[in-house]
Amino acid sequence: MMKTQLLSMSPEELGVYLKELGQPAFRAKQVFAWLHQGVPFAQMSNLPKALRETLSERCLDNPVQVLETITSKLDGTIKLLYRLHDGHVIEGVLMRYKYGNTLCVSTQVGCRMGCAFCASTLDGCARSLTPGEILGQIVCANGVLAPQEQKVGNVVLMGSGEPFDNYDNVVKFLRLLRMEGGLCIGMRSVSLSTCGLVPNMRRFALEELPVTLSLSLHAPNDAVRKRLMPVANAYTIEETLDACRYYIEKTGRRVIFEYALVHGINASPEQAVELAARLRGMQCHVNLIPLNSVPERGLTGVSEREVDAFRKTLEQHNISVTRRREMGDDIEGACGQLRRRYLREQDEQ
Ligand code: SAH
Repeated sequence: MMKTQLLSMSPEELGVYLKELGQPAFRAKQVFAWLHQGVPFAQMSNLPKALRETLSERCLDNPVQVLETITSKLDGTIKLLYRLHDGHVIEGVLMRYKYGNTLCVSTQVGCRMGCAFCASTLDGCARSLTPGEILGQIVCANGVLAPQEQKVGNVVLMGSGEPFDNYDNVVKFLRLLRMEGGLCIGMRSVSLSTCGLVPNMRRFALEELPVTLSLSLHAPNDAVRKRLMPVANAYTIEETLDACRYYIEKTGRRVIFEYALVHGINASPEQAVELAARLRGMQCHVNLIPLNSVPERGLTGVSEREVDAFRKTLEQHNISVTRRREMGDDIEGACGQLRRRYLREQDEQ
């Protein structure tokens, strides 16, 4: 029998579930708090023993478990490998900044968007994660940080998977994330990255979940974008930027454009000029990402000089731009790489 994932439930849903077990209404709040603190059923000390036992039999407290952690010697970044209750493996990255800890979470097991430079998509998408499985990654990371008396303060939905290809679960996760009595992480501390599924971008603008939206743009025009991202065959850049403008209008938040520089494809000075012209007048910021080369994909990154030249050209055209700091370069920081190594090793055994 599949165990019930309590971490996916809102306090109201928990209340209904516990009522069916004959429990009074106030239990929901207690269980919700324990679950989000990462406390196992056996240690939920204000619950009757019989209830703790019933819950252990029928439910999962956290559907995610840490399988392995690898800490970067360069900057303290921690790469996490998790196991889901059904045996699937996902990964995440915990970045340690002076101002706090940021966790990069996955929203799917793999991805089906097919971007040419991305390791997550190489084997397709096995399945989407439940709200509790997305939340459970944060609960796990808090456990890893507990000995240092720290917690996750910021969350980025930039791990494996396309958040808007798992829309309902991601939205529910965000609503749970900010709840009082739970993790209490506000939407201003959250970034969501999408490859640009336009209808769901527009839908999301109306959810009143004002996260920082990042769009994986990666190209100054549709022809170049189609070479890198299959999603460009479904939506034009203009349609996608319109959805961004709509998001800015509805939420008052600026949009971040991610742009991974790929040698010989999207990184020339002329393409920087073209990009600047496209983005003129938008309340936005460009984040240049030096490509993390994925050998399976045969694409290579650019030199430091090329990154600099691209950045300067954008600046000259009054586009706000930064170069993303690389974190955990020694520990396979790029999405999907660690999981792939792990699965390969399992195969070899
Ligand atoms: N599905 C979401 C989240 C993906 S990962 C999206 O497409 O936005 C977050 C960012 O990392 C995306 O901008 C993605 O395009 C980028 N990315 C993926 N693989 C990369 C690589 N090998 N090098 C640099 N950036 C990469």
